[in-house]
Amino acid sequence: MKQLAFIKRSNGSHWVGDGFPVQGIFSYNDVAEELSPFLLMDYAGPADFPPTDKRLGVGQHPHRGFETVTIVYEGGVSHRDSSGAGGTIGRGDVQWMTAASGLLHEEFHSEDYARRGGPFEMVQLWVNLPAKDKMSAPGYQGITADQIPTVDLPNGAGTARIIAGNYGDARGAARTFTPMNVWDMRLKAGRSLSLELAEGHTAALFVLHGALRIGAHTVRAAELAVLEREGTELAVETTEDAVVLLLSGAPLNEPIVGHGPFVMNSREEIMQAMRDFNNGQFGQIAH
Ligand code: MN
Repeated sequence: MKQLAFIKRSNGSHWVGDGFPVQGIFSYNDVAEELSPFLLMDYAGPADFPPTDKRLGVGQHPHRGFETVTIVYEGGVSHRDSSGAGGTIGRGDVQWMTAASGLLHEEFHSEDYARRGGPFEMVQLWVNLPAKDKMSAPGYQGITADQIPTVDLPNGAGTARIIAGNYGDARGAARTFTPMNVWDMRLKAGRSLSLELAEGHTAALFVLHGALRIGAHTVRAAELAVLEREGTELAVETTEDAVVLLLSGAPLNEPIVGHGPFVMNSREEIMQAMRDFNNGQFGQIAH
């Protein structure tokens, strides 16, 4: 049985650009080793935006050495990058962007959502790449809700959308570089749920709405429960209906050296990333 290691919550909110009111749940600056291969989680919203003709969001900025995974719960996001990829995702969709060797991108509220306004809620995860893949070519997976398999959880506990990884015969929609599970779970109140995860893998549950219990501990909205790597069974009891993001994966066990939007394995590689960025080697976004 996996035991709770600790509960992580945001120490404050900030805006990313003018479109994303974000609670930083964790980052490579605090719990990089414990959460590997996951580097960072920002929880944007829940918020409510009035209809507008403005482009709210964050303009051109670089990334190198990892992937950004954007899960839209409410609202819509448009992305465009210097590799020529782009796309708009809405409620239930996921953008899995592989920055790898480096790109510039911009992230804005989608045009139709901006005009419509209303609820906005999104999670952005940064997923680390193994050293051997950090300088591979950038990639982009625009994953729509209909491509994500939904499975029923045992004991009438609810459902899980398998964004990445496997549940029984269901295979997640995203291609990943290393083994991991990213599941969007909708749990019903008053159930016991037992999940089987790989021995030695990182495991964490982020509660977006509702609450659940792990052993004697209650995990509430906007809290991340991090489990010990030992053991394979994750036992959860729900006290309320809950929306929960499950993360698990094989830890990379490689050095993590990050600076802002660059996460590499050494200081020298970070310096190189800054030089390459300043020399314009991350390309340009076509307008
Ligand atoms: Mn970005």
